[in-house]
Amino acid sequence: MRLFVSSDMEGSAGIVDWSQCRGPGPAYEEGCELLRREVVSAIGGAQAAGVTDVLVNDSHGVMANLPPDRLGAASYCSGRHKPFYMMERLDSSFHAVFFVSYHGSMGSNGVLSHTYNPRAVSEVRLNGTVTGESGINGLVALGHNVPVALITGDQVTIEEARPFFPDLVGVTVKQAVTRFSAESLPPGEARSAIHEGARKAIERVRAGEIGLPRIELPATLEVSFLTADMAELCEPLRGAERAGSRTIALTDNDPVRLFRTFTTAIALTRSLVDL
Ligand SMILES: [Zn+2]
Repeated sequence: MRLFVSSDMEGSAGIVDWSQCRGPGPAYEEGCELLRREVVSAIGGAQAAGVTDVLVNDSHGVMANLPPDRLGAASYCSGRHKPFYMMERLDSSFHAVFFVSYHGSMGSNGVLSHTYNPRAVSEVRLNGTVTGESGINGLVALGHNVPVALITGDQVTIEEARPFFPDLVGVTVKQAVTRFSAESLPPGEARSAIHEGARKAIERVRAGEIGLPRIELPATLEVSFLTADMAELCEPLRGAERAGSRTIALTDNDPVRLFRTFTTAIALTRSLVDL
């Protein structure tokens, strides 16, 4: 049984500041270790339920935040340029997807909230519902027929995922107070909860209790940017329509292709970010 783990970083217990998520420095080193131990806990729980093969796709920042020789028996996809970004290397040979250490969308009060790029994207709606990165990434899982079984992070992150993944196991490791503060579980308790949640999630996949992402096709991603220039730049993309001065609507029957168009928009708008 094959498991795909997309690991972000802002959603780990104890992490509340960018300094813990961006190197170099001791705060970042601490953040990496908090993340690593949560990822290893998720892998351990999944293995206890029968997973034999794990791929961890590092999905945060420079996408190389984990020590490859301390990830248990997982393969590791890392590096700063990946066309499929947070979902690189997922295909239909996998049986389940985990989202570990995820965070809330830009407009939410989740810890370190943002949607792909905090300096470009103000809000994304998927088929009319505001979505964080989990819903957007769910397009790829849907396209490859793989259920999303587990998400970990603060309470906002779990709530935002529910409309698209009604069956998934959510593990809340901290309560967001504001965008830059939270009450976290003791990290050891968070890891135990993740281990247990991962075990339960895989058992539910095996029992056929976790359906595919609930996203109707053709799907539309409405992406609102911080500036009108960014929306204008993205107008020529496949399936794009200008839906407002700062907003484009991307529509496609193929969820994987829609995700690719979205990540292309994200890459393009980096050229227009201030500073
Ligand atoms: Zn991140």
